[in-house]
Amino acid sequence: MKTESLFDRSKQIMPGGVSSPVRYVEPYPLYAERGDGSKLTDVEGNQYIDYCMGYGPLLLGHGLPEPVEEKVKDQIDRGVLFGLSGEIEVEFAEFLVERVPSLEMVRFVNSGSEATMAAIRTIRGYTNKDKIVKIAGGFHGAHDSVLVEAGSGAVDIPASDGIPEDFVRHTLQVPFNDPGKLEEVLENYSTEIAGIIMEPMMGNAGVIPPENGYLERVRELADEHDVLLVFDEVITGFRLGLGGAQEYFGITPDLTTMGKIAGGGFPIGLFGGKREIMSEISPQGNTYEAGTFNGHPVALVAGYNLLKYVEKEGVHDKVNSLGERLREGLKKLTEGTGYQVAGLGSTFKVFFTDLDRPPRNYSEAKSCRDEEWKKEFRPKMLDEGIFLPPSQYETQFISFAHSEKDIEKTLEAYDKCL
Ligand code: PLP
Repeated sequence: MKTESLFDRSKQIMPGGVSSPVRYVEPYPLYAERGDGSKLTDVEGNQYIDYCMGYGPLLLGHGLPEPVEEKVKDQIDRGVLFGLSGEIEVEFAEFLVERVPSLEMVRFVNSGSEATMAAIRTIRGYTNKDKIVKIAGGFHGAHDSVLVEAGSGAVDIPASDGIPEDFVRHTLQVPFNDPGKLEEVLENYSTEIAGIIMEPMMGNAGVIPPENGYLERVRELADEHDVLLVFDEVITGFRLGLGGAQEYFGITPDLTTMGKIAGGGFPIGLFGGKREIMSEISPQGNTYEAGTFNGHPVALVAGYNLLKYVEKEGVHDKVNSLGERLREGLKKLTEGTGYQVAGLGSTFKVFFTDLDRPPRNYSEAKSCRDEEWKKEFRPKMLDEGIFLPPSQYETQFISFAHSEKDIEKTLEAYDKCL
């Protein structure tokens, strides 16, 4: 079997045989051969309906629509990298500022991790304070300030070897959907806190939407305690709508981090927000941020033209209504059976939980029956031709390329495998 042999070779020369840990699956991960619309084909020739969609970036599914592909090819013909700004950078930045409520200025980087790392440095630089508050279980990329795990008692610990405990001291954690706990932390530490960084809808603990009034209260608390609010919209940005979750829920943060969909499948990250805060960034201000590949022309051309296509074709109406249909179907299937369906827009997840509602924070999500999901359910779904990301805690994404028929087939597969 080609897959086994590729994995055997991979393990000799790459840690765990993969380039990112979530891709590690026992006994071996799938190796991708190609993607077409909603379908993914592995190196064995098996075809799956894909709900991983590259972990979110592929809002339109695999492949680029013709007008976007043409622009990308044209950019490649004209050059892939210059180390200079180009017209595309200005046009894309203007497009974003017009559509995402909090953005007055933006900086382009290369990944969501870079965006959150730089945004955190920026709020620290702007406020001259060191501490940040994050949501327990919230993922903001693989860098030191945000890789923090709950320790015993109230003391948090690094979530990885190689992170000094001193760094983690500056990161305080509170549960999602719990404004009381946030208020407590802000009252105790507000003079030391630069800001709060959070996903407006959690996307790395399964999908956990905010409860009514929660984000409003977070905004109020941030203002009352004079700390900045950063929404990490790396997943929700351009997914819940062109204006992101901040437009969807009507709450404007001070800074926003984005990535994934913004690059049309190519690596990208960006962050932006209030002019006064963004002016803190080098070379205008004293908070240093830089990168050889920042504002990469191919990623910018792909992302900009893809987002223009999304707007013109009314993509969100279609993907959101497919999402609604799939979630409703799943709810009917799972009523009273030890599963809970969650999600918004084109995201969904079936939690393996005995709670009588979907989890509302990370610790509830962690109490789900994970072994059953991983070892029994997901492999069965693969046999039925459905590719789900290999963790109960990853969001599942529907794309513009998914059809009613895909949704029907998916519901049948859930019915059979649950
Ligand atoms: N923030 C959120 C909410 C994410 O989900 C991720 C990645 O999944 C990141 C940041 C990091 O983005 P990247 O993987 O592009 O570095």
